[in-house]
Amino acid sequence: MSTAFLQVALPVPMRTVFDYKTDASGKILPGCRVRVPFGKRQMIGVVVGTSDQPNFDPDKIKSIDTCLDSSPIYEPTLFEALRWAASYFQAPIGEVLFHALPPQLREGKNISACRPEQIQLTTLGKKHLLHATVRGEKQKLALQALEKWPQSRAKLKTLGVSPATIKSLLDKQWVEKKIETPLSCDFTQLTIQDEKHLNPEQALAVTTITKQLDRFQTYLLDGVTGSGKTEVYLQTIRQVLATGKQVLILVPEIGLTPQTLQRFEQRFNLPLYPWHSALNDTEKFTAWDAARTGSAAMIIGTRSASLLPFQNLGLIVVDEEHDLSFKQQEGFRYHARDFVIYRAWKTQVPVILGSATPSLESLYNVHQQKYQHLLLTKSAMQSHQTQFELVDMKQQKLHLGLSSQVLVEIKATLSRGEQVLLFLNRRGYANALLCHECGWLTECSRCSAFTTYHKIWQQMVCHHCSSTAPVPHQCLECGSTQLVSVGHGTEQIEEGLSEQFPDTTIYRIDRDSTRRKGSLEKQFSDILKGKPCLIIGTQMLAKGHHFPRVSLAVIIDVDGGLYSADFRAQERLAQLIVQVAGRAGRAAIAGKVLMQTHHPEHPLLQDLINNGYAHFSRLALEERQAAQFPPIRQMALVRVSSLDAQACQSFIEGLKVALSPIEELQAFGPMPALLEKKAGKFRFQLQMIAKKRSTIQKAAATLLTAIPKLPTHRQVKWSLDIDPQDLY
Ligand code: ADP
Ligand code: ZN
Ligand code: ZN
Repeated sequence: MSTAFLQVALPVPMRTVFDYKTDASGKILPGCRVRVPFGKRQMIGVVVGTSDQPNFDPDKIKSIDTCLDSSPIYEPTLFEALRWAASYFQAPIGEVLFHALPPQLREGKNISACRPEQIQLTTLGKKHLLHATVRGEKQKLALQALEKWPQSRAKLKTLGVSPATIKSLLDKQWVEKKIETPLSCDFTQLTIQDEKHLNPEQALAVTTITKQLDRFQTYLLDGVTGSGKTEVYLQTIRQVLATGKQVLILVPEIGLTPQTLQRFEQRFNLPLYPWHSALNDTEKFTAWDAARTGSAAMIIGTRSASLLPFQNLGLIVVDEEHDLSFKQQEGFRYHARDFVIYRAWKTQVPVILGSATPSLESLYNVHQQKYQHLLLTKSAMQSHQTQFELVDMKQQKLHLGLSSQVLVEIKATLSRGEQVLLFLNRRGYANALLCHECGWLTECSRCSAFTTYHKIWQQMVCHHCSSTAPVPHQCLECGSTQLVSVGHGTEQIEEGLSEQFPDTTIYRIDRDSTRRKGSLEKQFSDILKGKPCLIIGTQMLAKGHHFPRVSLAVIIDVDGGLYSADFRAQERLAQLIVQVAGRAGRAAIAGKVLMQTHHPEHPLLQDLINNGYAHFSRLALEERQAAQFPPIRQMALVRVSSLDAQACQSFIEGLKVALSPIEELQAFGPMPALLEKKAGKFRFQLQMIAKKRSTIQKAAATLLTAIPKLPTHRQVKWSLDIDPQDLY
C-alpha cells in the first residue's frame, strides 16, 4: 500500500503547503484542522489535499500529531472560494484559511467547546406557556423570550431575565440547558413589518432579481441616495427568506449603524447577527457558528463577513459597493466585493451591488454585460432636487477657512431652524506650521510629510506614522518666532464656527473626537433630536447616516482631489461629493450643497454638478480607456520599502528583468510611492499593467519565484497587491 501524504496549510507567510504523514489518511478530509509539528513548535494547520508524491524526502516527513475535526470545518463552496482567493490575490493559503476562522478555532479549540450554553424551552415549559398556567410575571417573560428560539444566558439578561429566574425554571424542568448544535432557523416564523408599497422602478428591480433566485447573476442597483435601494434589498431578502435560505449583507466599515441594524431587525421576525471587527471572540464565534449551522437567517457585517460560512446561502447584498473599506489593504489583500461575486457564482446565488455612486469597475462590468443594471432614478420621498453651487475662493476673504458666502448661507439655514453639515477630510487644526520669514515647514523627521498641528492637544502629529512632537515656538531654520498655520483642519473650522455662531451647538465628528466608545452614538442621537446645529466632520460623516433636518451641506475644500497623482482620485472625489450631497435634504426640506474651490471652472466639477454622476462616470471611463488604466486594464502593484532607497530600486530592477519575457505585460518602475518615505523607510513601487487577468497572474507567479533569488531580497520588505485600490 502506498502511503498518502497530507498537504497542510499553516498560518505562516510562506506561499506553500507542507507535507505530513498520517495513519488515518482517507479519514482526514480537506478542510479539517490538524495539529502538526513545525520546526521546534506545534502548529494548527488545515488539510488542503493529499498526495502520493511529496515535494520532500519522504523519510524526513513528520507525522501529524492529531486531527482536530471529524469533518471539514469549512463549508465546501467557501473552502473552494478561499483557495481561489489565495491564488487570485496571491496570498499565502494558510493565512487566507485562518483569516476565515474565528479566533478560538485558530487556536485549535473544539467547536462545541466554544459554544456558549443555551437555555431552551422544554415540552413541559411549552405546555405551561400554552395553557397560561405560569404564575410569576418574571417566569412568563422568560418563557416568552424562549418561545421563538433558545437564548444564551447573556442574551436573556439583556431581556430582563435574571439568573435566579432561570434557575427556578431549570429546577421545574420547564427549560433546559443545551450545548448541542444550534437549531436551524425556523424560516416559517417569517413575518413582515412595515413593508412599503414599491414605486415602479423599485418593483421592477425586485421582480427582475427574484424571478431567478436559483442562479448566479450580479445586479448593479444604481440609485441616488434616498431612492429606496434598502427597500429593494429588504423586499428581495423577504422572498429569499421565504424559501428558507440565508442572506449575507455587506456594509462599509461605518455603515453598520444602530439605525441600519434596526431596520433589518424590525422588518423580519428572524434571527439577524451583526459582524464587525469590534466583536469579542465569543461574539465572533457565535455569529460564525450561527451562519454555519443555519441558525442565523441573516448576517449583516463589514468586509470580513464575506468570509463566513453559510449552511444554505440564498443571496448576497453589497451596500455602497464602491466603498474603499471592502478592500483589505494589508496582509491578505482581498476585495470583499469581488470575493463574494466569485462565491455567489460557486454557490449559484444572485448578488446585488448597490450604490448611488457605483465604482467604475462595476459600471464597466455593466458595459461588458457581465452585470445587470437596475436603475432607481427617483428619490423615494423628497420631491425637491438638491441644488449644487461652486463657491469661488479666489481673492475671497476667509474666516478660518470659510468664505463670506458660506457664512451667510449657514446663518440663513440656522435661522430657518435647520441643520448644517460641513465636510472636511482633515483632522487637527492645521496641515502644518510655516515660518513667515524663511518658509520653513514643520515636517515629520521619519516621513516625507508635514506634521499636523493639533491645537487641542498642543502637539504636532504625523498622520502617517503617528509620531508626535511638541509645538515649536521658533523656526528650526532661522529662529524666527513668526510661525503661522497653513491649511485648515476640522479643529480650526470648529473654532471659526464657534466665533461666528456662539449660540449654536457644534458637533465635531472625526477620529479624534469620537475615540471614546459610545461618543459617536451620543452625538448622532443628539443631532437627530432636530435642533438647529452645525455638524463638522471628516469622511466618517459622508456615508450612511440619515439626518432629516440637514438642509445645507458644505464641502470646505474640494481641490485636494482634483490634482492628485492617483488615477482614482477624481472618481473618489466625485463619489464623495455625491455622498455628501446625499446627506443634505433627505427628508421634507430642499437641500443645497456648497463647494469651496479655487478651480470652479474645472471640467470634473462642472460636469458633476451639471450632468450628474452617471455622466461623469462615462467620461471618466473614457479617460481610463485612453490612459489604459483599470478597469479597462488589469493592474498589480509591488510595494517595496527599506531604510536603503538604493536597495528598493535594485530589487525592482531585478523584478523587471525577471518579468521581461512576458511580452503582454507592461511594467513601470521603480517609481517612488505617493508617500515616498514613511516611518524612516523609503517606499518604491513597480506597477504592472496588462490586458488580461491571466497575464497578471503569470507575472505574479514569475515574481514569486524570482524574489528569493534576488540579492537584495533580504534588505527590503515587499508586498504584492492585485487590483490595488490606491497607489499610496
Ligand atoms: P437608499 O437606501 O437608496 O438611500 P432607502 O431605502 O433608505 O434609500 O429609502 C429612503 C427613505 O424612503 C426611507 O425612509 C424609506 O423607508 C423610504 N422609502 C423607500 N421606498 C419607499 C416607498 N416605495 N414608499 C415609501 N417610502 C419609501
Ligand atoms: Zn524660518
Ligand atoms: Zn511620520
